[in-house]
Amino acid sequence: MTAQQRWQAAMMDNYGTPALELVRGEGATVFDADGTPYLDLVGGIAVNALGHAHPAVVKAVSEQVATLGHTSNLYINPVALSLAETLLDVAGLSGKVLFCNSGAEAVEGATKITRLTGKSKLVACDGGFHGRTMGALSVTGQPSKREPFEPLLPDVTHVPFGDAAALESAVDGDTAAVFIEPVLGEGGVVPAPDGFLQAAREITSNAGALLVLDEVQTGIGRLGSWFAFQQAGVTPDVITLAKGLGGGLPLGAVIGVGEAGELLKPGQHGTTFGGNPIACAAGLAVIRTIREHGLLDHVDTLGKDLAAGVAKLDHPLVSEVRGTGLLQGIGLTKPVAPAVATAAQRAGYLVNPVRPDTIRLAPPLIITERQVVDFLAALPAALDHGLQAGQES
Ligand SMILES: *Cc1c(COP(=O)(O)O)cnc(C)c1O
Repeated sequence: MTAQQRWQAAMMDNYGTPALELVRGEGATVFDADGTPYLDLVGGIAVNALGHAHPAVVKAVSEQVATLGHTSNLYINPVALSLAETLLDVAGLSGKVLFCNSGAEAVEGATKITRLTGKSKLVACDGGFHGRTMGALSVTGQPSKREPFEPLLPDVTHVPFGDAAALESAVDGDTAAVFIEPVLGEGGVVPAPDGFLQAAREITSNAGALLVLDEVQTGIGRLGSWFAFQQAGVTPDVITLAKGLGGGLPLGAVIGVGEAGELLKPGQHGTTFGGNPIACAAGLAVIRTIREHGLLDHVDTLGKDLAAGVAKLDHPLVSEVRGTGLLQGIGLTKPVAPAVATAAQRAGYLVNPVRPDTIRLAPPLIITERQVVDFLAALPAALDHGLQAGQES
């Protein structure tokens, strides 16, 4: 039996059947069972910040699992404590941290925190993605993902992403919080228009509502700064993190800034695995490596090279390049992103057709200049393939 046949027999049909099986990775390269290499510009969906098998992560995780693998939150574990202090340090904020195991769980935690304001109305954005659990799905602004699971949380309103006037009219004194992704990630790599996050900060402050920034995808260096809120120059009340934080291990976090960090009281929330020492050791290794290797500047430079390089191809299928740092979206003039991704894969490059008309690039932050140049050289042929597919259909 092929891996695909075994998958179909044993795995719920929730992801379809993937066309490619990966068995090994090194740096920004992954390998299939035949040993064929692929340059990984998906990065496990913006997760593998340090690529694959990074020595710092391997060492931190191996040493921790051999020392103390799990404690639960009935005990202090020094690794989670250090990671919380380190996160607050790189965020440049005073606040408190709650660890969990995924992005949806971070949003779930943030949602529960907003209830402790005594208000229940939530406002979020069309096209936003906040995860698949029932609470996180309630703020997610993608009807096709929501509808099969309704009824969801009541009192959630969605406004067009980037529309400050619509946000202002949706938020009132009964609003507990506004949830925003600084860049729509799953929504197709759409950065918030200039001024939107600042307007959201002003609107929420005036109404006495919390501003929750979902930085699950944009946080931990992805945009060339530790967090997107730092580039926007706004201070949110709550920040959700996951994806890149654990360098490949399941790790999420909620940061409550100032008073928002004081809302949860003993017994109100919890997770057995949250703050697991192995995952937190990986998180510490990620942050230390980003610092020691100057990766924020590297991301900034290579992100600009990548975006400029794609634009310079001047390819008829490319309508625009959107994004910041190493979260870039290639907008296509036709809905042929899957065909482009398939052609790229055949040429040895993994890219993500996040929307029918958008290719998402979220490579490891350690991708090299040489690898970006190689990708840019291979991209036109994959785009040509997309154009052909568009003409045939
Ligand atoms: C991926 C993502 C989530 C959900 O994270 P999971 O780990 O898949 O639960 C939430 N918010 C944003 C912005 C994301 O990109």
